[in-house]
Amino acid sequence: MFQKILIANRGEIALRVLRACKELGIQTVVVHSTADADAMHVRLADESVCIGPPPSRDSYLNIHQIVAACEITGADAVHPGYGFLAENAKFADILAAHNITFIGPSGDHIRVMGDKIEAKRTARRLGIPVVPGSEGAVSDEREAKRIAADIGYPVIIKASAGGGGRGMKVARSEAELEMALNTARSEAGAAFGDDAVYIEKYLEKPRHIELQVFGDGAGAGVYFGERDCSLQRRHQKVWEEGLSPALNESQRARIGNICAKAVADLGYSGAGTIEFLYEDGEFYFIEMNTRLQVEHPVTEAITGIDLVHEQIRVASGGGLSVRQEDIRFQGHAIECRINAEDPRNFTPSPGTITHFHTPGGLGIRVDSGVYSGYRIPPYYDSLIGKLIVHGRNRVECMMRLRRALDEFVVDGIQTTLPLFRDLVGNPDIANGDYDIHWLEKYLAASEQG
Ligand code: ADP
Repeated sequence: MFQKILIANRGEIALRVLRACKELGIQTVVVHSTADADAMHVRLADESVCIGPPPSRDSYLNIHQIVAACEITGADAVHPGYGFLAENAKFADILAAHNITFIGPSGDHIRVMGDKIEAKRTARRLGIPVVPGSEGAVSDEREAKRIAADIGYPVIIKASAGGGGRGMKVARSEAELEMALNTARSEAGAAFGDDAVYIEKYLEKPRHIELQVFGDGAGAGVYFGERDCSLQRRHQKVWEEGLSPALNESQRARIGNICAKAVADLGYSGAGTIEFLYEDGEFYFIEMNTRLQVEHPVTEAITGIDLVHEQIRVASGGGLSVRQEDIRFQGHAIECRINAEDPRNFTPSPGTITHFHTPGGLGIRVDSGVYSGYRIPPYYDSLIGKLIVHGRNRVECMMRLRRALDEFVVDGIQTTLPLFRDLVGNPDIANGDYDIHWLEKYLAASEQG
């Protein structure tokens, strides 16, 4: 087991990882920018190292500074959290070259899954169902037209290097294709420095369902059920729940076994999420994330298993603590991402939180790094906390969520709490009857109304 883990992140996820380390009796080092000197994870860690000024590229993304912090403190492993360097293959390689363990998969696995065209090719090879579309990058308009005619309109053009929903364009007819292709290409070039794009069938009303998987690095793979993350705004998840209201046990076991086998065949090590669009009973792979997800507590609530503990165990060579048959799903869980944003137009609302009171009681978990008097710096993303609610079934979970949202107080800034108070009372949400476009339509309608 590791002696000392350096946490290369900030906010709620830094605190989340720190808690797991403390439970396992592992010393912690956190790194932070000058803007985060007062952060909760800095206060609670055994050691902290300031690695630079506020902008992420000079601190949380500064590989040299982070490696130097490991050497100075004698950390033998790094947990990257999510975002920042969590899916940076070069970072994983550099740590390996310094004999520091990266708590995550190998640089090569990160690289394959980070390139969406390569990821899709790999998924297909591993027997995972994929969205119909081009085999690789589309080189010109003629080829794009031929493929689109083949799979049928509407189609979506996506950036191979994509992420965060950028560089995606829908074309509903051949007339729209040229424009969509050019816009997607130039957006991808500007955002990612790589203008390779590919083409896929555009699904009209899918759900976003993702499988939580784990590889032990020694040829075994397991799945921990799924999360339904269909409630999205601008391709960003807002509300996540598990298990999905849309799947039954046999559908779950079928896709779960395919994913667990794929992870095993890959020789994958650590946590991963295989994301699908799901429509009319069929799954279509869109990407694999090679890290812990923001929404991992949903899975922890329904399985009772600490996924960060498992990550640390696997990375240290100790393997998983569970086999597939030990993983059982109990009840239902919902996570709400609470952002420091205006709930109507979603503009960021940084500033000082004058009063912060979190709900409690049975089945309630709040993961947050903020506190009363905390000043939210304007440099980073706006997530200030996650509310995760568990119940014996979805109805109980929703009842408890409504009560917890009423108790939650965040004063001094604006948050997205009012949005969740609206959603929890909505009949479609109560029935679990929504697809990936539902929230955008709902928000557009509330704006007019
Ligand atoms: P990113 O990495 O940028 O988040 P993804 O490939 O994960 O991109 O897609 C993000 C979201 O975009 C999906 O959750 C879904 O809402 C939408 N999307 C992606 N591909 C398709 C498709 N083929 N048809 C319909 N919607 C899609």
